[in-house]
Amino acid sequence: MLCPKCASEKTEVVSTVKGSINERYHKCIECGYGFITLEIVKVDVSLIEYANEINKSYVNYFEPCKKVV
Ligand SMILES: [Zn+2]
Repeated sequence: MLCPKCASEKTEVVSTVKGSINERYHKCIECGYGFITLEIVKVDVSLIEYANEINKSYVNYFEPCKKVV
């Protein structure tokens, strides 16, 4: 990743905190500036498919209630 202060490509990862979102602590070798980046899942296709299946079952479950009201 480019240094946000001097745009140098010479940066190093000092430390990483892992979780559902990873935090990486970087340091620029050129100017010494420290910065943090976040690593997240952009799109998880399997979760979208799962959510669609859940939504379908809710629609089927609540369908009879709508007819009664
Ligand atoms: Zn820099």
